[in-house]
Amino acid sequence: MVDAGPVQDGLIGEVAGLLRDADRVTALTGAGISTESGIPDFRGPQGVWTKDPKAERLSTLQAYLEDPELRVRAWRLRMEHPAWDASPNAGHRALAELERKGKLHALVTQNIDGLHQKAGTSPDRLIEIHGTLREVMCMSCDDRAPMEAALARVRAGEPDPPCRTCGGILKSATISFGQPLNQGDMERARAAAEASDVFLAIGTSLTVYPVAYLPGVAARAGARVVVMNAEPTAYDRSADVVVRASIGRVLPEIVARV
Ligand code: NAD
Repeated sequence: MVDAGPVQDGLIGEVAGLLRDADRVTALTGAGISTESGIPDFRGPQGVWTKDPKAERLSTLQAYLEDPELRVRAWRLRMEHPAWDASPNAGHRALAELERKGKLHALVTQNIDGLHQKAGTSPDRLIEIHGTLREVMCMSCDDRAPMEAALARVRAGEPDPPCRTCGGILKSATISFGQPLNQGDMERARAAAEASDVFLAIGTSLTVYPVAYLPGVAARAGARVVVMNAEPTAYDRSADVVVRASIGRVLPEIVARV
């Protein structure tokens, strides 16, 4: 768990004030909002890639398509993924509460763990811009199926189960490096950033593009941008407010004052 120390009460009040005055808040979340649910991020101090830089290859589309051994390892990791046993934490619940208060216009998440839905965020406000771990997709025919069924095949002795429809390579329905984003999702995310009067970037290092452009898109369209992250991010110097804090501790306090 990241603990960035005490946060000034004034800063919490300032962000709560911005949210109170806002009509349309768009939030962008990253792996940092789920670390307090026991899912490690990639680049934080306990991040998967911080500890093992070679693990990045597992998220690269070309390596996945070319290397059967890497796919076998990827299936084993999917089986053991902490998301299966994870529950939403106070940060996820605070964003669901912000929606109930009528403030949340859209929630763009880079996370693939499904915890925002579990916390109660409405599917029509949620854009899973990097896909979901809860489905698999065929890299040849685009067929989609529940992850659960594919994992049952791995458990039953198929270490790299092929697509049942065409025999192609199956992968989690997440966006790997080298794989294009869903254009419709990216357009919705961009439109939500442009329509917002406050844009919250929460628990993301803002280093994965094109998503990392969204705070700038929002700012150019007139939004106030708040960055909430335990460590410095790529957008801190341009943000209106930077809250360096543990999300699960501070976000509920802010939303309670809205
Ligand atoms: P990242 O790993 O690059 O950055 C996460 C940031 O969150 C870090 O800067 C870290 O300091 C901060 N952080 C961690 N715990 C925090 C906490 N409790 N409070 C405040 N800040 C905290 O993550 P990213 O920017 O989302 O980019 C990584 C990519 O990896 C994304 O595309 C995402 O899809 C994927 N990913 C997803 C999950 C998940 O679904 N939970 C987990 C790991 C990676």
